[in-house]
Amino acid sequence: MNAPLGSAGKTSNVPLLDVNRGNAPLREEFIAALTRVVDSGRFLFGPDVTQLERSVAERCEVEHAIGCASGSDALLLALMALDITDYDEVIVPSFTFFATASAVTRVGATPVFVDIAPATFNLDPACLERAITSRTKAIIAVHLFGQCADMTSILAIAKAHNIPVIEDAAQAIDAKHGGKPACSMGTIGCLSFYPTKNLGGMGDGGMLTTNDGALAERLRLFAAHGMNPRYHHRVIGINSRLDTLQAAVLNVKLQHLAQWGQQRTQNALGYHAGLTSSGLHHTLGLPIALPGNEHVWNQYTVRIPNGQRNMVKQRLNEAGIGSEVYYPIPLHLQECYRSLGYRPGSLPETERAAEEVLSLPIFPELTSAEQQTVIARLDELLLPRRAMAA
Ligand SMILES: *Cc1c(COP(=O)(O)O)cnc(C)c1O
Repeated sequence: MNAPLGSAGKTSNVPLLDVNRGNAPLREEFIAALTRVVDSGRFLFGPDVTQLERSVAERCEVEHAIGCASGSDALLLALMALDITDYDEVIVPSFTFFATASAVTRVGATPVFVDIAPATFNLDPACLERAITSRTKAIIAVHLFGQCADMTSILAIAKAHNIPVIEDAAQAIDAKHGGKPACSMGTIGCLSFYPTKNLGGMGDGGMLTTNDGALAERLRLFAAHGMNPRYHHRVIGINSRLDTLQAAVLNVKLQHLAQWGQQRTQNALGYHAGLTSSGLHHTLGLPIALPGNEHVWNQYTVRIPNGQRNMVKQRLNEAGIGSEVYYPIPLHLQECYRSLGYRPGSLPETERAAEEVLSLPIFPELTSAEQQTVIARLDELLLPRRAMAA
């Protein structure tokens, strides 16, 4: 691609994410797997879906995994199966993708937004405790950017109040907390196979996990129009299935997930070493994995303070380097949630994060030369005097 020349006259073309680099070596395997589905004529359910559900259940160390159409649907189905409805409150972080909160509104309940712990960008257990009321019917803990929320504290608080915890692990398949995989700790786990996730399909897909057999049946029921047996509708559900073609692709990709995870970790270590040795860690806030957490680095997200973030993002873009702000507008300040009455200042750590964060390229196939380019450009942008003296 021809990127415009930056003011420095140098272009680098380091993409934020390049799905083709991951997919290209597996092309023949994909074609074979997809051909089998095409020839079978069976495009919903079937052995590919069952196999993926089994593999994911094993990987997440849970009894049951249930395919569905997306991570957003997984969240919605989790709330439906837990009977969350009008007048209920569900505690969610505000610093997350919209689907975490919109699912709550979709079932008629009210999202109660709580602030994050600045070190991890994840729900702050101290804020959680204060937000619980007699109407609180669930907590959604998001494992943002690939690191688990503090599930030890969250589960202790939830247990004391007898409130179920839903894990939004859309960005965190394979992440661990205290040795336990994401999706195995809460009442229900939710996964997304959106193409940019660590296990990404070729379109939409999602999965639910639980150790509770009765709940697993309810999740399947709600995902199938509440229908059982055929044309007998026991509850009002939705139509949400994982396509067999997606499952076939994901079964191929799952074989490589551990290796891709290692490459992401290598890239995170590479950034940490490079940004530290250049002294940029004095200017930037570098992401960390807390002790006891195994981070899977869906994103490598730095903080750029003092109102410089947008400038840095633009300059990187001019130099052909991809980066993105996840997420620029906290959910409690979104137009659609204005009636909930939050104001700027309601959740200070969330709002500060939204102004400071920038995610850098960390996909598994990123080369070390590309990574050095990203670090060098950041160095030029943020340490101009030193760059001139050099
Ligand atoms: C991607 C994502 C979702 C939604 O998943 P989809 O498959 O895109 O519907 C939900 N929560 C978080 C935190 C996500 O990153």
